[in-house]
Amino acid sequence: MSTNSDHLSGNLTCLRVGLIGDPVVHSLSPRFQQAALDACGIVARYELWQTPGDKLVERVRSLCAKDCLGANVTIPHKRAVLPLLDEIDPLAAKIGAVNTIVHRDDYLSGYNTDAPGLLCALQEQGIGKTEPGGQVSLKGYTVVLLGAGGAARGAAFALTGAGIELLIILNRHLERAQMLAADVQQHYDGPVFSLNDPTFLIPHASAIIINATSLGMHEDASMLPNEVLARFDPDTFVYDMIYNPSQTYLLCQARAIGLRTANGLSMLLHQGAQSFTLWTGKPAPLDVMRAALG
Ligand code: NAP
Repeated sequence: MSTNSDHLSGNLTCLRVGLIGDPVVHSLSPRFQQAALDACGIVARYELWQTPGDKLVERVRSLCAKDCLGANVTIPHKRAVLPLLDEIDPLAAKIGAVNTIVHRDDYLSGYNTDAPGLLCALQEQGIGKTEPGGQVSLKGYTVVLLGAGGAARGAAFALTGAGIELLIILNRHLERAQMLAADVQQHYDGPVFSLNDPTFLIPHASAIIINATSLGMHEDASMLPNEVLARFDPDTFVYDMIYNPSQTYLLCQARAIGLRTANGLSMLLHQGAQSFTLWTGKPAPLDVMRAALG
């Protein structure tokens, strides 16, 4: 019987890996994943698998084909795929969302690489330290997390797992922020506050503000009024998970008062790099992937 490792060592025909979601057409993943596969000499195609909800079960089953390495999963299926898999990595289970499926020995395993991807993206900006075991430490930082949806959930578990001092979740619907705070508190001893009114935000030293809402994708708007942002220390770092547009309204507000900023392209890159390694067992060619993103 052939295995994925036969394919990876170049013995057999073309492998497949792809993105499951609805919609998928605008995704940047094929661009940098295909570049990585080619650069590592892996004969495989990264495909776009447009999948409406009523076709999800069938699509996930199709990942058990011999030539399939696995998949990425995006909106709106990151939660729905969990019960369709054979095993779930503990971090993905805690977050309740899978963005990477690996097909190995006829088993489908689910992982979440969005969360560690965010930590790598922050680290690239000089935020946090790498501990001897390779884990990222964010000890001493306070995080203001904007949003309480899927991406915010992953961020909240990643950040608290990295040892931040305090987490403040600000969300339009307060009850969603409170639910996320309660889930996080089951695994984290530090303080977690939930808010829906930014005017109650009290600035803290060593703050990181992370936008994990979709506000700013299609409109010139942000969760934080200028006067609230201006209360933060000049060393505050502002990260927006949105990468299209590359400069959101929030990033423009922050830059206008001299705060350091970055957009979500680095998180996209690092989550993709970790997915690549899970599928192939090989280190991701980060420079190739970064160059392919442009
Ligand atoms: P989601 O689960 O649908 O959550 C959306 C969040 O945005 C919720 O907190 C929602 O608040 C908030 N929101 C939506 N419209 C709003 C508005 N008009 N005003 C205030 N808040 C609003 O989506 P998601 O999967 O978490 O994704 C969120 C963002 O992260 C998206 O822009 C996505 O592209 C980005 N993302 C980036 C990466 C990356 O690699 N860079 C990875 C994952 C996600 P309510 O709860 O009050 O509705």
